[in-house]
Amino acid sequence: MNKKLCQSCGKPMGQTDELYGTEKNGAKSKDYCNDCYKNGAFTTNITKERMIEVSVPYLLKEKTGINEAEAREEMETFFPTLKRWKNT
Ligand SMILES: [Zn+2]
Repeated sequence: MNKKLCQSCGKPMGQTDELYGTEKNGAKSKDYCNDCYKNGAFTTNITKERMIEVSVPYLLKEKTGINEAEAREEMETFFPTLKRWKNT
């Protein structure tokens, strides 16, 4: 699977660079979406734990038949695979 995801929040980025954030020089970021990253910096100092909290309700909506504990477990496995959280 080689789907492009925001390497901070995990949002699917689609096939264009439209959803990507910007670097200081105005170029598009290669890794992060425009919610997470602007002008070469992250827009929030969110922690991985908080990111998981925020994401669980989305996953529950997206996937039917899983409960909150399962969604949380999936996110706890998923987020450390993203570049922003790899070393946290
Ligand atoms: Zn993002």
